[in-house]
Amino acid sequence: MPDYQAILEQIHEGVLSKAPEGCVASYIPGLANVSPDKFGIHLHTAEGGDFAVGDRNESFSIQSITKVLLLAMAVSSQGRKIWKRVGVEASGTPFNSLVQLEYERGIPRNPFINAGALVVCDFLLGLYDDPKADFLKFVRRISGVSTINYDESVARSEREVAYRNVAMLNLMKDFGNIHNNVETIIDFYCAACSVTMSCRELSRTFAMFMRHGRLESGEEILSIGRAKRINALMQTCGFYDESGEFAFRVGLPGKSGVGGGIVAVYPGKYSVAVWSPPLNEKGNSAAGCLALELLTDLTGTSIF
Ligand code: GLN
Repeated sequence: MPDYQAILEQIHEGVLSKAPEGCVASYIPGLANVSPDKFGIHLHTAEGGDFAVGDRNESFSIQSITKVLLLAMAVSSQGRKIWKRVGVEASGTPFNSLVQLEYERGIPRNPFINAGALVVCDFLLGLYDDPKADFLKFVRRISGVSTINYDESVARSEREVAYRNVAMLNLMKDFGNIHNNVETIIDFYCAACSVTMSCRELSRTFAMFMRHGRLESGEEILSIGRAKRINALMQTCGFYDESGEFAFRVGLPGKSGVGGGIVAVYPGKYSVAVWSPPLNEKGNSAAGCLALELLTDLTGTSIF
């Protein structure tokens, strides 16, 4: 096994010594005041080992990372039905783009761009009476942390500026791919994006994908086949129009969020979460991508 702790410390020093790149997301007012200097990593191995550096115990807004958990909840409840309403192809467009939706008649390319995650939220609203409460229960069960919660002020501040997401919902409703009230979907989506977790909690939550759909106790949340498909989507679509570059540089399935978090998974080996708020022009954590590139290079552990 590589000396993960020594390698994480080397990565931390390497990232600190570089001039910071990128900008903290400010289009959601509730995220604008996070310090750009925060940096943490937590790596959790299949054998139960934990290795960490920096601000790994501080909670941050997981934002789009939540889309993987929304999809896991939808797939674990209703198997295949969701795939009639959302595709499984890389979009090659930014996370909040509207252009493809018109050409492709209201069917989003994949569940990890905003339009796709909004369809997943609509789908869950059709399955659960109170999906907001049930999603939180689902996340708490997978993470094993009963205190994980929504950040109501971040959710509220996103709802107030959700013009693009509302536009996507209305366009998809016109094509017949949205069934519930737009306001109700936005409320659920913004709450789901506002979940806060630390790197430690995030890497342990995503250990389910590292364990092919099982919790540490052995309990199955997703079948091996469903876990495979979600990991494949993280590989091909987890970083929007930078998914190819992430595969090229890092070589692991993963997902980013505009809160500066990135989580990545090596099935059967480890799950790792990094947090650094400044984002590159594609909306992914600049130092987070670099840290994970160094991790897979220095440990020789990419899936490729
Ligand atoms: N809540 C954010 C939004 O809808 C999530 C985007 C992201 O993290 N890429 O814009």
